[in-house]
Amino acid sequence: MSGTAEILSEEQMAVQKQLMQEIASREDRPRTYHIVTYGCQMNAHDSELIAGMLEEMGLTPAEKREEADFVLFNTCCVRENAERRALGNVTWLNEVKKKRPDMMIAVCGCMVQEKGMAERIIRQYGFVDLAFGTSNLYRFPELFLKALHAEHVVVEVSDRNTVAEGLPARRARRDAAYISIMQGCNNFCTYCIVPYVRGRERSRKMEDILREAEELQAAGVQEVMLLGQNVNSYGAGTQASFPELLQRVDALGIPRIRFMTSHPKDLSDRLIEVMAQARHVLPQFHLPVQSGSDRILMRMNRHYTRAQYLERVQRLREAVPGIGLTTDLIVAFPGETEEDFADTMSLVDRVGYDSAFTFIYSPRVGTQAASFPDQIAPETAKVRIQALIALQEMRQREAMRRFLGTEEEVLVEGLSKRSERFVSGHGTHGVSVTLPGSSRDIGTIVKVRIEEIKNNTLLGSRQEET
Ligand code: SF4
Repeated sequence: MSGTAEILSEEQMAVQKQLMQEIASREDRPRTYHIVTYGCQMNAHDSELIAGMLEEMGLTPAEKREEADFVLFNTCCVRENAERRALGNVTWLNEVKKKRPDMMIAVCGCMVQEKGMAERIIRQYGFVDLAFGTSNLYRFPELFLKALHAEHVVVEVSDRNTVAEGLPARRARRDAAYISIMQGCNNFCTYCIVPYVRGRERSRKMEDILREAEELQAAGVQEVMLLGQNVNSYGAGTQASFPELLQRVDALGIPRIRFMTSHPKDLSDRLIEVMAQARHVLPQFHLPVQSGSDRILMRMNRHYTRAQYLERVQRLREAVPGIGLTTDLIVAFPGETEEDFADTMSLVDRVGYDSAFTFIYSPRVGTQAASFPDQIAPETAKVRIQALIALQEMRQREAMRRFLGTEEEVLVEGLSKRSERFVSGHGTHGVSVTLPGSSRDIGTIVKVRIEEIKNNTLLGSRQEET
C-alpha cells in the first residue's frame, strides 16, 4: 500500500453493513433515490457504490430527481462551471423540497472537500440534509442514518486517505464496468485541485482488484476500465506496479481492458511492452499533454518536456501500430503567450489525436496557478480555444481515415440517436462506431467493416459476430 493510506478493517466495514440492514428495516426511511453525477469516471464509479449502498438500504431508483425521496448530488470541482451548475441544481431542488418537506437532499464528492465549502453549505444551503466528502464515502450508511432525523444539515469532511473494500455497487452497465485501482494524486499540477480534495495516492491491493475483475468476468462483463488519477504510479513504494497489474488482468481473459488516466512522466517502457504483448488490452491510450510549450509545462509542474512527450507518443505508435490516442488540453494557462499557444497548436497538428478534451484554464482557489499574476483575458482565451477546436476537429477527421476499409470490434452500447435501426458503441481503438442493429445487440461485441466517416463517428456494416 502506498502513501499514508488507511486500510479500513473488516470490522469497520461490517459496522456499515449492519447499519444498511438496520436502515432497510426502518419504516421511516425514504423509499426511492436519484443520483446526479458530475465530473469524471472516478465520480461515476463512486455514484455506483453509493447506489449499491442505497439499494442495500432498501431504496429503489427513481427516474426523475423531483420524484425521489432521497436525491444526491455527487459533485466535481475541477472547473468552476461544474461547481456552479451543481449548486444551481441543488438550489432548484429546494423549490421541490418546499412542497415535499420529507424529501432528503444530499451533496457529496470533490466539491464538498474544497476548503471552506462545508461552512458555505451550512451557511447558504441549510435546506441540505447531508454533505460529505470523498474520504467518507464508506461511512455513507452511518451518515444517512444521522441525517434521517437531524434538525440541521449533517456535514462530514475529513482528509483521511482511506481504502475501503467490499462496498456493494450498482453498476450503470451490465456489459462494461469500472474498477477503481487507486485513489488520490501526489502530483500537484499547479492548476489542479484534485490532490487537495481527493488526498494522497493510495493503491488497492492487487489481489482485491483481481478478485473484483474475476467477479465481473463471471457476471458476463465484456469490458473493464481500470481507474485512477494516475494509474502509472499504481503501487508506488511497494513491489506492485501498473504493468504487472495490467498483465495479470489481461491473463484473466476478459474480452476488453481499458485504463485511465496516465501521466506522461510515469509512462514506462515496461507498460508499453505489456500493452504490445497483451491479448485483451485495447489499442488505445489517453495521454493528457495539457500544453505543447515547455515553458508552460514547467509552470504547470508537469515534469516532462514537449520532446519527451512526443518521444512517448512515438514509442507507443511503434509498439502498438494504429493505436488510438486521445488527450486533454488547457488553453490560456496564466502567462501563456502567443508563442506558447502556437506550440500547443503545432503539437496537436503533429500528433493527430483521435479526440481531445479541450478546456479554457479555470482558476481554482487553493491551487498555485490561481495566484499567478499573469492571468489571460477571457477574450484571448476564447479566440484560442476556438482555433484549437477547429484544428483538432480537422486533424481528427484526417486521423479517422486510417479506419476506412478496416475491421473494428465494437462493443454495442445502445441504440443510435440517428435511427432505431442502428446501434452504436466504441471500437477497439476507442472511436465511436455506428452500425445497423437492434436493441438485441446491446452488450455484445460485433465485428464491423468501416465504410464511412460522419461527424467524428465511423459508420460500417456488420461482419460475422465474435
Ligand atoms: S496528475 Fe496533475 S492533473 Fe492529474 S489529478 Fe494529479 S494533479 Fe491533477
